[in-house]
Amino acid sequence: MAIITVNLANLTAPDDCGRLGGRPCGRHFWPPWYRRANATRQHTVTTIQRRTLNMTEQHTPDSGFAERIQHLHDELGIPRHYAVASCLALCEEPPQLVDTEPDFYGRPQRLTPEAFAAWRAMKETATAAGVEIFLISAFRSVDYQCQIFRRKLEAGQQIDGILSVNAAPGYSEHHTGRAIDIGTCHCPALEEEFERTPAFAWLDRNAAGFGFHLSYPRDNSSGISYEPWHWCYAPQ
Ligand SMILES: [Zn+2]
Repeated sequence: MAIITVNLANLTAPDDCGRLGGRPCGRHFWPPWYRRANATRQHTVTTIQRRTLNMTEQHTPDSGFAERIQHLHDELGIPRHYAVASCLALCEEPPQLVDTEPDFYGRPQRLTPEAFAAWRAMKETATAAGVEIFLISAFRSVDYQCQIFRRKLEAGQQIDGILSVNAAPGYSEHHTGRAIDIGTCHCPALEEEFERTPAFAWLDRNAAGFGFHLSYPRDNSSGISYEPWHWCYAPQ
């Protein structure tokens, strides 16, 4: 058995948006985020909305959720054209979440029951194959995302700047309880070099068999930054 020594004092837990160093996860915009060509935007909207609707088909966001998000956006000063400009679709919170194992930093995490069962099976299979994968981040609530925005606004940041690194509340795939950020040993969390690890090679070959798909592959048609660590449970 390999023994891995980790100096916790040198570790930085992912920031509020789930990535280290203030980088966003699953929702990079082309800065400035609101300047997009209409033709590209239309294509991207179609692509992302199709994928998100597939992912959340069991819980299609209702008008109450959309209304709640709109109120929050108004309170935070998020422009009304955010959804169209960002090409992101609403991601509703699930009706049920279960506790997972603690993440790499010892923090509690939650997923939907289905996503957790699939994650556990996938992790056990990977472990049996000699591949280490672990949770970096899972469910994040709309309220939590709002707290991030409020804190940054109170610190004097402008809303456009915040939106360039954080998805607006209601638009993070992590709200669904089906998205997970995966880490492995000997690789910094949430960095592109994850793609060069045995863990990524194993996930690339096997994750689909457990219902997990890479949300933002390299050169994806949505134009979102490549995130080899971000996988979403969406069985087909
Ligand atoms: Zn993520």
